[in-house]
Amino acid sequence: MEKAVLITIGDEILSGNTIDTNSNFIASELKNIGIKVSQIFTISDEIETIKNTLAIAFELGDLIITTGGLGPTRDDKTKKALAEFFDDEIALDEVTFNHLKVYMERRGRQDILERNKEQAFVPTKSVVFQNHYGTAPCMMMEQNGKLCYSLPGVPYEVKPLIKDQIVPYLQEKFNLNYIHSRIVSVVGIPESILADTIENWELALPENIALSYLPVGTRVKLRLTASGDNEDLLKQQTEEEIQKLLPFIKDHVIATSEDKIENILAEMLTDRKLTISTAESCTGGGLAKMITSVSGSSRYFLGGVVAYATEKKVKILNVSQETIDQYTVVSEEVAQEMAEGVQKLFDSHISLSTTGVAGPGKGEDGKEVGTVFYTIRINDQEVTSKLYMPHLERVDFMDFVSQKIIQDVV
Ligand code: ATP
Ligand code: MG
Repeated sequence: MEKAVLITIGDEILSGNTIDTNSNFIASELKNIGIKVSQIFTISDEIETIKNTLAIAFELGDLIITTGGLGPTRDDKTKKALAEFFDDEIALDEVTFNHLKVYMERRGRQDILERNKEQAFVPTKSVVFQNHYGTAPCMMMEQNGKLCYSLPGVPYEVKPLIKDQIVPYLQEKFNLNYIHSRIVSVVGIPESILADTIENWELALPENIALSYLPVGTRVKLRLTASGDNEDLLKQQTEEEIQKLLPFIKDHVIATSEDKIENILAEMLTDRKLTISTAESCTGGGLAKMITSVSGSSRYFLGGVVAYATEKKVKILNVSQETIDQYTVVSEEVAQEMAEGVQKLFDSHISLSTTGVAGPGKGEDGKEVGTVFYTIRINDQEVTSKLYMPHLERVDFMDFVSQKIIQDVV
């Protein structure tokens, strides 16, 4: 079992209405057990197309996983395509039908419609993995030692099927190892000095754990990758190694469990018992949204103000009218006063502010769309920077600016 091919089935993905998140999830779960995805196909709900793609997939990989098109509606054709491809019949599977009845009853549905019953019809050669979160079962077909799984399209049905059933099944059958990774984020120490500092620890790492250095901006990410047959043991083992590592670089470590920037911020602020507040104009709350997307953010996020109207910057954030008149509202000076104002308002250690032109037209003072000034204030120290991002769509713009600011704080 080396290579996997994923097939995403559905016109709505091809038309741009739905973003394919299933492939992303499946690929990363397979990676955890050492299976590499070599191709991902996205195809329409057409029987011929599905069959042709299955034929190609069987040429390319040892494991094929399809998602989508298993529903009871007419636009869902995957099951029919499977039966034709594997030269099989579709028949009622009693176990699946019973599972379906229990599933429906639990949800207060006593009457099983014909259309629902159809969900329990599967190719006779298939092995069924029951779906506990939906009505379409997952079917596994085997051909010349290669496996093909067909899953429904709904992501919250796909996830448990993959994680709780398919991954453990593949591991058992092919005797696969788990791969577990942890990232430690380090700042303020150049890579070469870091390598010298932790040399003794690195040399003493167990054989099943590999270390890599990944520099990103001012950060260095140390990635530990452990492999073995017991996932819990790997988690414990990597945690122990991280605890051994910390004394060497303690002051430089900003996060040991997370890799996303808002999560790193969370870990950093929680560990150092620091609080933060935001004063936003052009990002419209995007910064606050990103900060509060992390569970437990109430420990460090005190609050934020979205002051869009100029007079509200004056009234709520105590920006002076003279500063606005002299420098205009999209300026370094206004960003600074916003940060100072919100820091006082919430009595936080850190405050962040944004003022800029998100478009569509130029700012009142003729500033170009995509211009942003932002201030990061930590106690009584502050840094103000300018960004110019004219090419971004509005939503991406807010997202980018928020990410960038948090990146700078970290
Ligand atoms: P259903 O019984 O709901 O019809 P299904 O197996 O037929 O399930 P689809 O009809 O293909 O699946 O998709 C159902 C929903 O799942 C879609 O409306 C879409 O929102 C979501 N979905 C499908 N495929 C994907 C995908 N690859 N990534 C993310 N979401 C998806
Ligand atoms: Mg459907």
